[in-house]
Amino acid sequence: MKIQKFGGTSVGSPQRMKDVVNLVRKNERSLVVLSAMSGTTNSLLEIADYYAKGNKDSASVMIAKLHAKYNQHIDELYSTSEAKDKTRQFLDGIFTKLLSYSKSAFTPQMQKEIVSFGEIMSTNMVANYFNEIGVKAVLINAFDFMRTDKDKEPDLHYLSEHIKPLIETNNDAQYFITQGFICLNHEDEIDNLQRGGSDYTASLIGAALKADVIEIWTDIDGMHNNDPRYVDNTSPVHQLYFEEAAELAYFGAKILHPTCVLPAKAACVPVKLLNTMEPEAEGTTINNAFLPHAIKAVAAKDNITAIKIVSSRMLLQTGFLRKVFEIFETFHTPIDMVTTSEVGVSMTIDNTDYLANIVDELKKYGTVEVDKEMCIICVVGDLRSENKGFESKITNALRNLPIRMISYGGSNYNISFLIQQADKQVALRALSEELF
Ligand code: ADP
Ligand code: ASP
Ligand code: MG
Repeated sequence: MKIQKFGGTSVGSPQRMKDVVNLVRKNERSLVVLSAMSGTTNSLLEIADYYAKGNKDSASVMIAKLHAKYNQHIDELYSTSEAKDKTRQFLDGIFTKLLSYSKSAFTPQMQKEIVSFGEIMSTNMVANYFNEIGVKAVLINAFDFMRTDKDKEPDLHYLSEHIKPLIETNNDAQYFITQGFICLNHEDEIDNLQRGGSDYTASLIGAALKADVIEIWTDIDGMHNNDPRYVDNTSPVHQLYFEEAAELAYFGAKILHPTCVLPAKAACVPVKLLNTMEPEAEGTTINNAFLPHAIKAVAAKDNITAIKIVSSRMLLQTGFLRKVFEIFETFHTPIDMVTTSEVGVSMTIDNTDYLANIVDELKKYGTVEVDKEMCIICVVGDLRSENKGFESKITNALRNLPIRMISYGGSNYNISFLIQQADKQVALRALSEELF
């Protein structure tokens, strides 16, 4: 079985939905994971935000606008009145539900329900289109197999146990369609896998079903060697090692959800990044082959906060680092980069929900400095110590910028720099010029 995930722009208009169906039909069998139509998740979050602020009028104005847009999509997508009526009835139900949130006090759980409607609508529309053109495609509901556990991690065992029977009972179906992004939590409440999480859904399903390949179809021809939103003349990287792709996704390459490579890697299922607008382009294959002596790509992760603690007590002391790291653990805040010296340690975080608590605790052990609006620049490729000379090329590219931290040697595939966010574009461009 092949898994094919289509992102927001790939299902962003009625014509794009038809294109997706044509691409899917080139395969004998596949399981199709869909995102919400582009813009819909943002609109739904805005509607939820109006409700949260008690502004029901603006919520209903936005709901009416979105409803009108979907009604127009229905008219353009289907040619039979049967398919139009069936889809309209389903979507009317969703929009009535959206309006019904005005009747009670708004809760954070309602936001999760509201944002789930995007993928529920897009999958319903595409499934009905398949059926209108006479191709048997079965819509399977992500809430029936995609769950997170107490630690908010996807429950792989549950997924595997519940998705296989759904496929077996529909053994004659060529195509299966499901929602990316959305899931239930361990208390059976509606939840999601965070923004961009449809990639993660596809990878988790691909791993559970031991798929032949997981195809991520998007609006660009694969992973580029630098961020195309900030650098001109980037080019696609045709092959990446799993670890390299994981580092790039984690450190800001938006084409992939940060954790989406991990399940595929664990199950040894290759991932392909392909362009819906240019289906013949080679794209990027992510697999277990490691190409030595090559720098593959550069990525950047914004909104990073650096925390430095300096203490004379660290000198020749054991247990100091443990105390520092325990503070981050207590406040459920992962650390991205670490550098140490004889008297101090610098760390970066991107979740600042507990920054004040962390700083309060750290102050018990030393002098604390916090730098906000920082950015991690990450260079990925063969950075094993025996591959000489790349580090100096990289630092040479950044020679005119103030660098706050450098992290090297933690993995064989990455070197990271912490710089000010304002210098991000200059840094990315300089690296492209020097390296590619
Ligand atoms: P989808 O809606 O299909 O999930 P996304 O917007 O999440 O698509 O991801 C695709 C976008 O990722 C591209 O349009 C591009 O702007 C951005 N992007 C950022 N870094 C990279 C990179 N290194 N290579 C390719 N695309 C990248
Ligand atoms: N629709 C969700 C989002 O916009 C999930 C996804 O597209 O992957 O974040
Ligand atoms: Mg995405």
